[in-house]
Amino acid sequence: MNKYRPITERIHDFKPVEPAPEEGWLKSELARCQDCGIPFCHACGCPLLNAIPEINAAAREDRWNTALARLLATSPFPEFTARVCPALCEGSCVQGLNESGVPCRQVEFSVIERGFAEKLLRPRPPARRLEKRAVVVGSGPAGLAAAWRLNRAGLRVTVYERDARPGGFLRYGIPDFKLEKSVLDRRISLLEEEGIIFECGVEAGEDISGRLLSRRNDILILATGARKKRDLPIPGRELSGIHFAVDYLTAQNRLLNGEIRGIPSSLEAGGKRVIVIGGGDTGSDCVGTAWRQGAVSVCQLEILPKPPETRSPDNPWPEWPRVLRTSSSHEEGGERRWSVTAGAFIPAEGNPSAVGAVRCSQVKWVAEGGRQVPLPDGNSAFTLPADLVLLAMGFTGTEPGQILSSFNLAPDKSGRLPRDGEGRLSLPGLYACGDAALGPSLVVRAIADGLRVAERALEHFTFQAGG
Ligand SMILES: Cc1cc2nc3c(=O)[nH]c(=O)nc-3n(C[C@H](O)[C@H](O)[C@H](O)COP(=O)(O)OP(=O)(O)OC[C@H]3O[C@@H](n4cnc5c(N)ncnc54)[C@H](O)[C@@H]3O)c2cc1C
Repeated sequence: MNKYRPITERIHDFKPVEPAPEEGWLKSELARCQDCGIPFCHACGCPLLNAIPEINAAAREDRWNTALARLLATSPFPEFTARVCPALCEGSCVQGLNESGVPCRQVEFSVIERGFAEKLLRPRPPARRLEKRAVVVGSGPAGLAAAWRLNRAGLRVTVYERDARPGGFLRYGIPDFKLEKSVLDRRISLLEEEGIIFECGVEAGEDISGRLLSRRNDILILATGARKKRDLPIPGRELSGIHFAVDYLTAQNRLLNGEIRGIPSSLEAGGKRVIVIGGGDTGSDCVGTAWRQGAVSVCQLEILPKPPETRSPDNPWPEWPRVLRTSSSHEEGGERRWSVTAGAFIPAEGNPSAVGAVRCSQVKWVAEGGRQVPLPDGNSAFTLPADLVLLAMGFTGTEPGQILSSFNLAPDKSGRLPRDGEGRLSLPGLYACGDAALGPSLVVRAIADGLRVAERALEHFTFQAGG
């Protein structure tokens, strides 16, 4: 396995935990890729359909430029996925039948970073500019991918972003120790040099009317994400010291970005006992951030049972393995507890307006109406001390907002923007992509969806224009 930086060193900074892969190790891993008869990684695993066997073969034979060309043929921003993708391809790697999958994500890292180091990633503006305009609302990975594709086709593309800087969760969610923001800035500069205009600090629908955007543009794509946070409305929720994980992570990212001088003390973990409610990736990012801020203790609670160490019989290869995952943040310390639900937040002794503990109980998962539901076990109640509680239970879907009302749009029951199979919404020329339409997902899926929807939009547009 590619090694992370030593824990004693890395928890004192926010620099990437994962160094560039060591070449000798990578080559020996790549050798394992060559024996595969039928590759499942690229069609079954990768949403971008990256030609992984070809990329790996070229890298193994030191044909790095070929590897780069093959990678860029399907993936516009491999430097993001090379750092944060869970590597769905590795889950369906044939080698994974008997041992670990080939580390395709690290190969991708070497290919793209070599490309940048050798200055092969130069701006490629379109050969011909069309007198046609497109707007993308939202600059997360889906919006960036859609904008990139439309710009390549020669449209004049503007991206509206309500945050101060582009990137969506790439910038304000994912911590620097997983994705350093210089990597994002490097790509945004390239996109700007290729002709895409970023209008940041502008909330579409509020600061500029949706109807106006639609009238003035030939294509309008909503890539606004799934940002409605899941709350935990239990007794004591009003106490201070209880925050949404994404607000906590955003504050740290804004500090490192130089957007703020300091983090509000309520959103700082230094010297505090931290409880993270939610066992997913966002929760794990909170764990790593809390250690770096100097937390006294960190405990992460998950309502689901502890996953098995290896695939269970109902989760065969080449499905994504639903097994216990230990992130770099988990390695850094703290406790993880499974099958636990929080029932109430308890005020702190001496400060009744602040949280001082979380009352929890174990849950049993029982079948009810054809599905599994958690049943708190009343005899298992326990209390965990807490000075800071972070709610990392995910997102329930698209936020309501003026941009949706402008087009009489409302999310469906699952919180997604209801689009047709081509990505179209209610008006001609209006599309949705990324988490806004898929529900909370992954960077790689957001990029793939942004590309697909932009492609469909171009096809419809060319068809209508008779081109
Ligand atoms: C903490 C955290 C960690 C994660 N870690 C990983 C990971 O390691 N690997 C992985 O694959 N995925 C990860 N994810 C998930 C991944 O980040 C998302 O699936 C992905 O960012 C979705 O992309 P998107 O472009 O659809 O939406 P977003 O990234 O959410 O971007 C939407 C953008 O739209 C903007 N916007 C919304 N409304 C308006 C408006 N009216 N006007 C202008 N702008 C607007 C928002 O400000 C935002 O910038 C993580 C998510 C979080 C929260």
